[in-house]
Formats: sequence, C-alpha cells, structure tokens
Amino acid sequence: MARSRAAGLSEALGLLEKAHGRVALVLDGSPMDFVMGILLSRGAPQDRAAEAVRRLTTEFVDWNEVRISYRREVSEVLEATGYDDGPARAELLLGFLGRLYKDKNGVDLAFLTAMEPEAVYSYFRGFPRIGDAVAAALVARLTEDGRVLDAPELLRVAQRLGVGGGAKSSPAKVRKALEDGLKGTERIRAHYYLTLHSEGLCRARQPVCAECPVRPGCAHGRTVKVPEKPPREAPAKSKGKKPPKGPGPTGEEKPAKAAKPAKSAKPAKSAKPAKAAEPAKAAGSADKPGTPGSPRRADRRPARSATSPAKKRRK
Ligand code: SF4
Repeated sequence: MARSRAAGLSEALGLLEKAHGRVALVLDGSPMDFVMGILLSRGAPQDRAAEAVRRLTTEFVDWNEVRISYRREVSEVLEATGYDDGPARAELLLGFLGRLYKDKNGVDLAFLTAMEPEAVYSYFRGFPRIGDAVAAALVARLTEDGRVLDAPELLRVAQRLGVGGGAKSSPAKVRKALEDGLKGTERIRAHYYLTLHSEGLCRARQPVCAECPVRPGCAHGRTVKVPEKPPREAPAKSKGKKPPKGPGPTGEEKPAKAAKPAKSAKPAKSAKPAKAAEPAKAAGSADKPGTPGSPRRADRRPARSATSPAKKRRK
C-alpha cells in the first residue's frame, strides 16, 4: 500500500511540476542560495538559475554585498547569465534581502535553525512577492529529519490527491503518509508544488478541477464531472441546416428587416390610400362642377331658383 501511495504521489508531483514549471533546487549551498535559486528559476530554466546563483555568490563577496549594491549592478550579472528581465529580477532579490536585513539586521539565515518549521513558514510567507510555496520549500530544505510541514493548505491538496486514504483520512494520516512516502529532494518538491497548487486551482473553496492538469492523477478530481464543450458547438451545425427553409439562418438581422417592410406595405395600401381617395374626390368635385356627382345637385338648385323668378315676373 505504501508503495502504491508513493507511486501515485510521484505521478501527481510530476504533473504539478509539468504544469507549474520546474524550479532549481540549489542544495549544495546555503539556505539563502536555495531561496535565491527558486526565485530565479520562476519562468526560467533551472540551469540558468543555478548559474546566476553561482555568479552572484562569486562576483560579490556575500549576499549582504549584493544587498547594498545598485540594482543595475545585480541586473548586469543576471543579464550576462541570459535573463531578459534583469532589472525586475534584481529588484525581487534586493527586495527580499532588504526586508530580511530590516527584520534581522543581517541576511544570514542561520537563525532559522533554532525555529520550529511552522514558525519559519509563518515568517517567510509574510514576505511580499515570495509566496507560500517558497517558504514551504525552505522549511523542507532546513528540516533534514524528514518531517513534513504541518500546513493546512499543503495537507489539503495532498488529501485531495488521495494521499493517506484520501477524503476519509485525517490531516495527521496524510502528513504521516507523506513522511513515509517521500524521500530526499522529492520531499522538498512536494512542499513546493503542493503549496503552490493550493494558492491557485486547488484552493480551499471550489477547486477548479475542470481546468486542473493534475486531474487525471487526482482522487478527488476524477470524481468531478466536467461538462464537455463539444455539444455546445453542435448547434452551430444545425443553424447551417435552417438556411434552406428561409432567411433565418443565413443572417438573423436580414430576415427581420425583410419581414418588417411586408407588414408596413399592407397597412399603407388598405388604410391610408382609401382615406386619401375620399378627400381627393370631394376636392375635385368642388373645383370641377361639371363632373358627375354631388356638384350636379348643387347646379340644379340654382337653376331652379333662376327660372322661378322669371316665370313669376311673366305671370
Ligand atoms: S483535480 Fe481538483 S482537487 Fe485535484 S489537485 Fe486539481 S484542483 Fe485539486
């Protein structure tokens, strides 16, 4: 059982590493070399990060001299190593060193050996632009007795992956399974990637399993039903079938314009023309008295009145 758990975790770590990118683990130097190696390997090849750490530790006396140097000087070393974003990287390193010096009046991390792992984790995760994953990896680097950090976010991701029995297991069992199944640098990688993943897709509430690259190797992720997108594209094909029936499918706006004019034509013929014709006849009859219709009646009346007075005079 222990072998299968370890194999499953190794597979998940491989997927996490592939998704987030491998980081340089500088293990042959000081704890500060280790931290700088991770910061320099974000979005950059591991070899380049390791080479940058080597140059910084050889071209400067120590990390404190790096701290008091100009950003331009540090950037030049990084650019000579192949970094296109030398100034930004230099600012990140100097920010970390400056914050540490402000807190501890020095940049030697020897004081960490006297602290509990959870205390080290809490201290460094408060550093701006460093992140929980780097702090967790540093804890794993400092604790050589095989202990695993007792951090809820790290254990939560491991539990979802199925470590220690999965959802039915307690955090203590998950932690024990990690300590039994992880060896050497794999323990450091687990600290880094599990914590890094907890900050992104595998968050506490509503993990985004549908977009997670680790889902094929995740016990919880495999139980999540992910809606498939292809069926939504099918309606587009049915729209193509409608065109022969009428103007609807080819362009929804065009058919609507064609229908409106047809409706307006009917009322124009029936109502408006009829009303306009009646007044036109009445006007025409008034101007043209000789036309048949009502004007004739008007002509007859005056004619009768003209003859009647003449007859009266003759009489
Ligand atoms: S599939 Fe879901 S539960 Fe599993 S690691 Fe990814 S986000 Fe977390």
